[in-house]
Amino acid sequence: MIDDLTLHAHLIGRQGSRADLNTPVLVLDVEALDRNIAAMAALAAAKGVGLRPHAKTHKSVDIAKRQLAAGAFGVCCAKIGEAEVLADGGITGILITSPVAAPRAIERLAALAARGEGLMAVVDHPAVAKRLAAALAATGATLDVVIDIDPGIARTGVASAEQAVELARTVRGLPALRYRGVQFYCGSQQHIEDYAERRAAIVERTDYLASVIAGLTDAGFTPAIVTGSGTGTHRIDLDLGVFTELQAGSYVFMDKQYNDCDLTGDGSRPFETSLGVDARVVSANHSGLVTIDAGFKSLSTDGGLAVVRRGAPEDAFFAFMGDEHAALIAPDIGTLLAAGDPVTLTVPHCDPTVNLYDHYHVVAGDTLVDIWPVSARGRAR
Ligand code: PLP
Ligand code: MN
Repeated sequence: MIDDLTLHAHLIGRQGSRADLNTPVLVLDVEALDRNIAAMAALAAAKGVGLRPHAKTHKSVDIAKRQLAAGAFGVCCAKIGEAEVLADGGITGILITSPVAAPRAIERLAALAARGEGLMAVVDHPAVAKRLAAALAATGATLDVVIDIDPGIARTGVASAEQAVELARTVRGLPALRYRGVQFYCGSQQHIEDYAERRAAIVERTDYLASVIAGLTDAGFTPAIVTGSGTGTHRIDLDLGVFTELQAGSYVFMDKQYNDCDLTGDGSRPFETSLGVDARVVSANHSGLVTIDAGFKSLSTDGGLAVVRRGAPEDAFFAFMGDEHAALIAPDIGTLLAAGDPVTLTVPHCDPTVNLYDHYHVVAGDTLVDIWPVSARGRAR
């Protein structure tokens, strides 16, 4: 078996075989990835809407660069640690989409803003806006901010138009901060599987967003930027025409959760599954069950069960068997497969699965063409 890092060293001038990889391994089909990036870019461009895809999904400088090359303004990051790593990799136009409130994180945000690379951040409370401004004053830098609006899940964001206006007034009084607009991310609507139901839910939420924007506009705070949306609602949001830029993230990979959603209402599939975990049978001593080498440490457990994509009957039932193992259960699977045989799994939920790996093994068909770091792996603060 070729060691991955040795293989990496040999990559210049020589390509590897996917079949040689030690497992479990995070595998990315670069051709499908590029088609997904191009498809979302074309959808947004056709409506004159910008793209700032969310990098919490991939945490990768290499993928962010491909998104920028396809026309994205920049990328979104969930945390300052993610933003620092991507900025060090040359990514500009970063928007931090979660409030930054810890004192050390605020200092780091000010330092990153001082680099002058088009950083933006959300704010959702006047007291925190004042702390950001104080930290920025110490560096002499300014920071563009958007007001995070709670879409009704009480996670982050201002809870009313009145709170939005009050926060905008506070920001206007702080010279280190520049008010640019609003953010509105409807997290719990993204995964409504039925298209018509998801559309109805987003139409209702967009009415609320429009009422907050009207309140801000009446008070003299017309937003230049209205940022939000995700893979689940991108098409509906483009139709409704309120956002100036989309933050969709998961479309680059398409995990099981999003494969279960009808994204278009007409049965067509705008994006392909580019991400998978290659695992291997390690024990096949029962007729109806084989054991593979991917368990809780190789697949996130919050998004349901992995699905077999290749190498075993597609209706084989996947069952976690603990930290290191899972079972594939199907009639006679133990006679069809032997220890050492490879299987490819579609991951249940892409973001937390990617965060379990140091590298993407990048393939074109069955050829390993590159290895990319999961650059911001573990940068949750
Ligand atoms: N914007 C924000 C604020 C998010 O939290 C997320 C994902 O959780 C996204 C955008 C990306 O959404 P999706 O993965 O549904 O495309
Ligand atoms: Mn997700």
